[in-house]
Amino acid sequence: MSAASRGKPHSTSDGRPRLTVLSGPSGVGKSTVVAHLRKAHPEVWLSVSATTRKPRPGERHGVQYYFVQDEEFDKHVANGELLEWAEFAGNRYGTPRRAVLERLEAGEPVLLEIDLQGARLVRQSMPDAQLVFLAPPGWDELVRRLTGRGTEKPEVIERRLKAARTELAAESEFDTTLVNTSVEKVSAELLALMGIS
Ligand code: ADP
Ligand code: 5GP
Repeated sequence: MSAASRGKPHSTSDGRPRLTVLSGPSGVGKSTVVAHLRKAHPEVWLSVSATTRKPRPGERHGVQYYFVQDEEFDKHVANGELLEWAEFAGNRYGTPRRAVLERLEAGEPVLLEIDLQGARLVRQSMPDAQLVFLAPPGWDELVRRLTGRGTEKPEVIERRLKAARTELAAESEFDTTLVNTSVEKVSAELLALMGIS
């Protein structure tokens, strides 16, 4: 496989599947890959984050995200309810802590799709987590995908591309890199990394 693996076993010493974190620049295809993977393997539990971003057409509360107001997000932070949170391109995003810990405790494979800052925080608080970086085949293709998705205004695309330069420079912090040339291929690679086939 084309994974550049800096290697970690699939499970912790007590045999439980480890938490897997998928990160990568906006527009690289994270959501597309995860949706494809979960169609074939619905047992992979994907954390639903809270965000202050407005829903895109077709996005539903409780499915892609919990869409919340600033005040509610503040409360989640103040109450320690988030495993991690970060500000990304003008909005806040955070992972509800309890649901993730419960699923891990139950021995289920758990996947987080979060940004670089969040991945770094998870690494600090849960050193057993497996960090996977999804990379584009090239810069121009990333721009094409982000622009082609048609969900953001030009100034938001600019902010996201600026963040992408920082994220791409941090690739070596991850345990493994997968290059998203083909959704099918990269989904299979990610499943293999999670110890599922
Ligand atoms: P992200 O979740 O990383 O922000 P998306 O999953 O929304 O990215 O994908 C961004 C765009 O790229 C979408 O229009 C999607 O259909 C497209 N895309 C995703 N993966 C591929 C791929 N392997 N080849 C071509 N286009 C892709
Ligand atoms: P989008 O607005 O495109 O859905 O997401 C923007 C970025 O926020 C993506 O990199 C996505 O992975 C990240 N993100 C989504 N949920 C979370 C979260 O709970 N925490 C963090 N740190 N990042 C998140």
